[in-house]
Amino acid sequence: MDADTLRQYLEYYRDLGFQTLYRQPVQKPPQAEPAAPPEPDMPAANIVPPSLPPLEPSGDTLFQILNDIGDCRRCRLHEGRTKLVFGVGNEHSPLVFVGEGPGQDEDEQGIPFVGRAGQLLTQMIEGTARKEGIKLHREDVYICNVVKCRPPGNRTPEADEMEICGQFLARQLTAIHPKAICALGGTAAKALTGHKEGVTKMRGKWFQWRDIPVMVTYHPSYLLRAYNQEAKREAWEDLKKVLHAVYD
Ligand code: URA
Repeated sequence: MDADTLRQYLEYYRDLGFQTLYRQPVQKPPQAEPAAPPEPDMPAANIVPPSLPPLEPSGDTLFQILNDIGDCRRCRLHEGRTKLVFGVGNEHSPLVFVGEGPGQDEDEQGIPFVGRAGQLLTQMIEGTARKEGIKLHREDVYICNVVKCRPPGNRTPEADEMEICGQFLARQLTAIHPKAICALGGTAAKALTGHKEGVTKMRGKWFQWRDIPVMVTYHPSYLLRAYNQEAKREAWEDLKKVLHAVYD
């Protein structure tokens, strides 16, 4: 592969959101006889670079993306999953919530945010909207996660798992193309913005995923802990900002 083709590949994967390359050891072929010098008059145009698939297949839909994920075994998370948790809600929603990854309830049902944290998220969305005079129900927005399979023991997804699954999140967000994204917690914030600061520093501020504004707030699981009353108030403020930015 020549340097130009290699650069095209690297740019392609960078645009898909990959930030790290994992090199596989290459088996060196046995030493061969020195190659014959190239034909002097062979035109360079004869070398056709391998074609790359389009970054965002035109007319990409959530159905197509789900189909492409298939019975995914691309990373180790598939080993412990019961159901893959793709996403739920309105495919044309102007607002998408992105969490970290499925927990036990989500893994059993195949639907994101259906456990205790999910119930709190629903209350937060619907309660804040009602208070702010915005007619909005959970099913009007779209909800998904950075990784689609439950990490064992609800551990934080690892970098390679997030990158492998991230290509599908990128396609989901591109297909929906919402007016804003709300990142729930540090893992989603990092995956979408690339920033590594803690969520306490990032919350309440606007960042960007490609051309889409991203508001970072606390993960609902964090808010479930009784001592986080102040964080709860802050999360409500963050949500108000997003709802007004999207629905005013
Ligand atoms: N926590 C998440 O991050 N996502 C879910 O779907 C449920 C809990």
